[in-house]
Amino acid sequence: MVKNCYLCGSLTKNKSGLCDECKEENQHKLRKIKDFLWEHPNSTVKKIHNKTGVEEELIRKYIREDKFIISNILEIDD
Ligand SMILES: [Zn+2]
Repeated sequence: MVKNCYLCGSLTKNKSGLCDECKEENQHKLRKIKDFLWEHPNSTVKKIHNKTGVEEELIRKYIREDKFIISNILEIDD
């Protein structure tokens, strides 16, 4: 089944809903966030966004998909 990539909107057959290009970009961003959380556990989404440059929306999406240990992220902004 063909669907639109949820990041850039181009058509993709990938089950993940991400085209190949965005998938690679995504891995990169995910890596960045994980590295950041390793050094700074209990960070807020806003802080992660400020420090890594990854969109808050995307970070929240990752959280929903359980890509992180949730206890490492505080939803409350300081
Ligand atoms: Zn894409």
